[in-house]
Formats: sequence, structure tokens, C-alpha cells
Amino acid sequence: MSEARRVAVLGATGSIGGSTLNVISRHPERFGAAVLTAGRRAAALDRLAMRWNPDYVVLSEVPESTAGQGWQGDWRYGTEAIALAAADPTIPIVMNALVGFAGLESTLAALAAGKQLALANKESLVVGGELVLAAAARGGGDLIPVDSEHSAILQCLGGRHTSDVHRVILTASGGPFREWPASRFSTIRPEDALAHPTWSMGDKITVDSATLANKALEVIEAHLLFGLEFDRIDVVVHPASIVHSLVEFNDGSTVSQLGHPTMEVPIQYALSAPEHLPNEFRSFDPVDAGPLEFERLRREDFPMFELGVEAGRSGGTAPGVYNAANEVAVRAFLEERLDFPGIPALVERVLSSMPAAPVESLEHLVEIDAEARSRAHDRVGTPLATRGDSTP
Ligand code: NAD
Ligand code: MG
Repeated sequence: MSEARRVAVLGATGSIGGSTLNVISRHPERFGAAVLTAGRRAAALDRLAMRWNPDYVVLSEVPESTAGQGWQGDWRYGTEAIALAAADPTIPIVMNALVGFAGLESTLAALAAGKQLALANKESLVVGGELVLAAAARGGGDLIPVDSEHSAILQCLGGRHTSDVHRVILTASGGPFREWPASRFSTIRPEDALAHPTWSMGDKITVDSATLANKALEVIEAHLLFGLEFDRIDVVVHPASIVHSLVEFNDGSTVSQLGHPTMEVPIQYALSAPEHLPNEFRSFDPVDAGPLEFERLRREDFPMFELGVEAGRSGGTAPGVYNAANEVAVRAFLEERLDFPGIPALVERVLSSMPAAPVESLEHLVEIDAEARSRAHDRVGTPLATRGDSTP
């Protein structure tokens, strides 16, 4: 049997990172965790390092004290060290499970170095757009989506050319406010938004799911991954999250991928594709799954969706501005400096103040990101002192 393939897990202490390590632990003959990284959670990373004994670990910031650190191996520090890990020549597979714009450099580094990139960090693809696709083409890297919807589409396509495709239909759970009247949105508290009906995820994507910004990011992600025009990407609400997406071919024949909601399935597929490895996951029982219900998306009540898709259509720097303003808005909402309707209001203001321009380079995107953040901060103030992990 061939040797286990070594994986760098970027964002190992997070929700996707943890699920990735669960998948790896079930297939020790196939995969090994060679590098683990985290933002600020030094203690959590230390525990993982004790369990996995990787080649090295990376923390994005130097901790104030290393007292109490149990793992005596190679600790590295800094955001640059994370991007270097993504390009480490001894590692064939990179899982990018960082949150937000912070993941862009690692995505580019992994693809330029020809890695198999399991991409959970959709923001990096959405913001980087053509730059990311160019890095994959140049470096020969393979970009495999971890998002359940895009994993579903990839599997439904089964290698078929997208010229056979009439459209794809992304499913959306609708989030916790699917049935709330828009008139109550100003009363939404962070804990309401963090109570997702079907998925347990990190805070940022959970709020994005509540505003539907996540679905807009996913439309742009589908546009880039599968080379489909925006008019060929639809969204339908499917509260049970059983049907993970659908592909309608030119003759009307429609194929979908189904399963009980667990991110471990698309994560495992992103590591093993095109192979479907056996696992101990709950087998899909159609009777148990119950009736499959679908609804229209309430676009008028969730403006983050339309704003995001419009930014995608504008292209260039627009998705980067949308993403940066959204990251600031989500943080401000979680810190109760902004109410729920304030999220699209803030993003719209920043977007309208920064017209889309062609993207020149990574440095250009970094400037745009900083400018959009600074304009957003001017309106809602800066984040509370460094707490938690999602601090950029
Ligand atoms: P999370 O907040 O649970 O974990 C994020 C991880 O990244 C942590 O290890 C954290 O320490 C690290 N991190 C955060 N900010 C960082 C920074 N600035 N520099 C370095 N490291 C940093 O997030 P998550 O829910 O696991 O989501 C990760 C990515 O996967 C996001 O892009 C999200 O949209 C995407 N995604 C998540 C899910 C899910 O079920 N959680 C599903 C689909 C896609
Ligand atoms: Mg998704």
C-alpha cells in the first residue's frame, strides 16, 4: 500500500479544521496531519499538537507567554509562516479552513505550488477571482471545493463538460430567520443569528448564513469554479439541507446529490476525490429524510444576497470590497455595535463609495481590502480589543 498522504490543516482549531482531523483519524492509512495552524488559540493548538505530533505548528501571532505549552516540537509564528506552510514542498494536500480574506495568501501559495487544495475558505476564491484561477493554471494545483453545495455540483457533473449544463441550482437552508417577518429584523440579537437550524459552524459563516451573504459568496464561488455565467446559477431554499445542490442539463434532466447534513462528507471527498472512500457515516435513509421541501428565496428581505451577486457580476475589485465590508459588519454585529439590518446598509454604503476596478495583483487586493475595511470602520468603529480568534 502506498504511504499516507500528508495534509497541512490551516485553521485546525476551527469547525472545518476539527472535522478534517476527524476524517483524517478515520483513514490513517490514507492521510496524515503533517502541519496544523491556528489564529490565536494557542492552548487548543497545543492540545492538537500533543495528539497529532505534526512536523510543525503555526500560530498566526506570537503568544504573550509560552508557559504551560505541552508540545515540545517546532512552533512557528506569523501569518507569513502560514502561507509558507501552504507551499511546503513536502506536503501534497492543503486544507484551507481559515476564515475570510486572511486565507487568500495561503490559497494562492498552495495553488502556485501545485498542491491539491481542499478549499473551505470560499472568501479567498471569491475575492481573488481570476488571480486564484490563474495561480491554479500556472502552478498546476487542483482546487477542490469543501462547501457542501459545490462538492455536490462537482459530483453531479461527474467530469461532464459545463457546455452540457443548462443551469445549476444551489440549495440554501434559509438560515434562522427564514420565517421571520422583515419587520422584526431590527430586534435580532447575536445569539439569534448564531443559532443555525441545520449546521454547526464558526461564528462568521453562521452570521453570513443568517444574512444570506454566504449564499451570495457561494454563487460567485460556483461562477468561478465551474465557469458558469451568473444567469445559469440559481438558488432555492431547502430547509432540511438534505439535497446539497442540483444540476440541470440542457435536456431538462436534473441530477442532485443528497445526504444527511454533515461537513465530513464533502471534507472527505475534497481529500480523496475523485475516489469515494468508505466511512462510518450515517447511511442515507430516504424514508428517514422525510419530505423534501423547497421555497423561493426572499431576496427582497435579505439584501446581502443581491448585493453580493451584483458585486460578483461587476467583478474586479467589487467582490473584495463586498467581502471586506461584510467582515467588518459581521464583527460589529457580533459585538453589538451594529444591528442586523445595519449589515447590508453598511456594505451597500462601502460598495457604492468604491467603484469596481480591474484587479492588478495580490498587493492591489490587499490595498482594496484595507481601504474598504477602513471606510466600514469609519461608520461602525473598530473591533473591541483582541478577543476570540476571528480577529484579522
Ligand atoms: P472557525 O471560526 O470555526 O475556524 C477558523 C480557523 O481559522 C480557526 O482555526 C482559527 O484559529 C483560524 N483563523 C481565524 N482567523 C485567522 C487569521 N486571521 N489568521 C490565521 N488563522 C485564523 O471557521 P469555520 O466555520 O471552520 O470556517 C472556515 C472556512 O470554511 C470559512 O471560510 C467558512 O466560510 C468555510 N465553510 C465552513 C463551513 C462549516 O460548516 N463550518 C461550511 C462551508 C464552508
Ligand atoms: Mg455551503
